[in-house]
Amino acid sequence: MKVGIIGGGQLARMLALAGYPLGLQFKVYDPTSDACAGQVAPLTIGAFDDGAALCAFAEGLDVVTFDFENLPAASLRILSERVRVAPGPAILEVAQDRLAEKSCAQSLGIPCGDWWEVNEFADLQRLLLERPGDYILKTRRFGYDGKGQVRIGGGRSLDAAAALLQSQSCVLEALVPFEREVSIVATRAHDGQMVFYPLTQNQHVDGVLRVSQAPAAQIEGVRELAETYVKAIADRFDYVGTLAVEFFQVGGRLLFNEIAPRVHNSGHWTIEGAVCSQFENHLRAICGWSLGRGDARFRCVMENYVGDMPPVDSIFASGDGRVHCYGKKPRPGRKVGHMTTLFSLPVTCP
Ligand code: AMP
Repeated sequence: MKVGIIGGGQLARMLALAGYPLGLQFKVYDPTSDACAGQVAPLTIGAFDDGAALCAFAEGLDVVTFDFENLPAASLRILSERVRVAPGPAILEVAQDRLAEKSCAQSLGIPCGDWWEVNEFADLQRLLLERPGDYILKTRRFGYDGKGQVRIGGGRSLDAAAALLQSQSCVLEALVPFEREVSIVATRAHDGQMVFYPLTQNQHVDGVLRVSQAPAAQIEGVRELAETYVKAIADRFDYVGTLAVEFFQVGGRLLFNEIAPRVHNSGHWTIEGAVCSQFENHLRAICGWSLGRGDARFRCVMENYVGDMPPVDSIFASGDGRVHCYGKKPRPGRKVGHMTTLFSLPVTCP
């Protein structure tokens, strides 16, 4: 089967690398000529909103998927008239808009922290007068890896918040005093069958994921809650493929943070650590095949390399991790690779 991937970053690259042993062929579409998935699959260069170029790209493909959620949903709709697109555009539209995403979660009974829609700086000032405290102001759209976010409270100036509100409408979130951040990665097949990966514990620095540990130490009932919530979202959209949902854990509760309608950084450990990786299961789902098991074979610690990739021999000299270089040029804040260290199970996470 021939698979097209819109977006040519490291997720597309890891999808292709997972798919070649299954006999799949790949083509990748990205606006930039140095998209790193282009090193492992033929790359078509084109804009994400160029419907004609996307349709030409889809010629001869059996299925199209994406590695990036800030695509115009209209482009996926145009594509889906020509070729099977999985996951479908509906969840993309919700995941692109923090307001729609939170409303969707709440409508499914998934709790969120306190949040407010804020469109004008005056609205923000009024809210802060009524409820002084610590907050994060986030743009509704196009935020990722901590971009489009400003912390408020603790005597900080509101200049950055005013600038953010000039650019687009926002949501204001109360800062959640979480005990830890966790995510659940799951895959749903076309017939509704679901595979859940173990809960993963995540540490972010400046809004960027740095370390994931899986399986996360168990807290009574929390894994079951995460599975219930991700299933509710996946069923709501008749989702096909791998998705992730991020949460803040507060005691035995999980508060919704966001949905990623795609393979996810917090699931990279599954390449070596699970029976069937999130990438293979995504491909199996979108190809209409049955899914592989998601249980962990190892306890894993996955660390991202952000900004620059250390020399691989220096990584090997200091440990026994499984190294993944994405073939990307160094740039501050950019994810350029990761390493997963494997430990025997069963060992409780620290
Ligand atoms: P996001 O892009 O919304 O996932 O935010 C990136 C990171 O910022 C999260 O993973 C948290 O570490 C932190 N963060 C975002 N929103 C909140 C919040 N409401 N309360 C506490 N921490 C947050």
